[in-house]
Amino acid sequence: MNLDKENLLYRGKAKDVYQTNHPQQVMVKFRDDITAGDGAKKEVMGMKGYYNSLISAKLFMLLEDAGIKTQYIDLPEPGFMLSHKLDMIPLEVITRNIAAGSLLRRFPFQEGQTFNPPIIQMDFKNDEYHDPMLNDDIIHALGIASNQDLEIIRKITMKINQVIKDFLESRGLLFPDFKIEFGRDYMGNIVLGDEISPDTCRFWDQKTRDIMDKDLFRKGESGVIEAYQKVTNIILDEKDKKRWNLDF
Ligand code: UDP
Repeated sequence: MNLDKENLLYRGKAKDVYQTNHPQQVMVKFRDDITAGDGAKKEVMGMKGYYNSLISAKLFMLLEDAGIKTQYIDLPEPGFMLSHKLDMIPLEVITRNIAAGSLLRRFPFQEGQTFNPPIIQMDFKNDEYHDPMLNDDIIHALGIASNQDLEIIRKITMKINQVIKDFLESRGLLFPDFKIEFGRDYMGNIVLGDEISPDTCRFWDQKTRDIMDKDLFRKGESGVIEAYQKVTNIILDEKDKKRWNLDF
């Protein structure tokens, strides 16, 4: 898809956002750039944007079917997501079902310990300050979100976790944790934005506990893109593959 540079609204670490002819719609381009450690580790991984866009589109559609508002409108071709334009809230909303990653580095949890109910953690999305963990008082004082907003965000997040976790478990995957971001649409509704992909989630094989997400890249292991393709294959149905003309 050819997108005019003049229409570029925002360039993030892994996605670009373009204004379309419709004032309330943007085209999100999923790039192949992969980063870790606050951007310290950086590479280009062919096909990563392609797979992440397909996984995100499928999971957004699943959430829409469950009554959750998302940015998703259409995936006219893999790599490009037509989306509702949102005013993004600078929160990284992290949900944890199983202890992994930074939680183990910061707190005395056991590796693999499960959380029921899940833990919801809110980090400040701000590179300059290295995404520090927030609490409600700091969120209010920074003017990021009201108590009512946070209540809505937590409620939607719990539902998102349940819907995706059940779906993944039915396909043999564990869902240890994930990060999502919300924005406000032109009506002021809180809507799920960004992406849900192996870049932003942990996906483990239920039986072998094999890692199938960006942790492979963080750890410098091989088979990163093969894992992303495998997740795509597991998540997409034949119907989805036909819709997007996929040949794998
Ligand atoms: N995550 C993310 N972006 C971030 C930080 C975390 O998408 O800037 C995701 C990460 O992929 C994982 C979850 O949030 O699925 C929890 O990450 P964690 O706090 O364990 O940090 P990490 O171990 O990834 O440094």
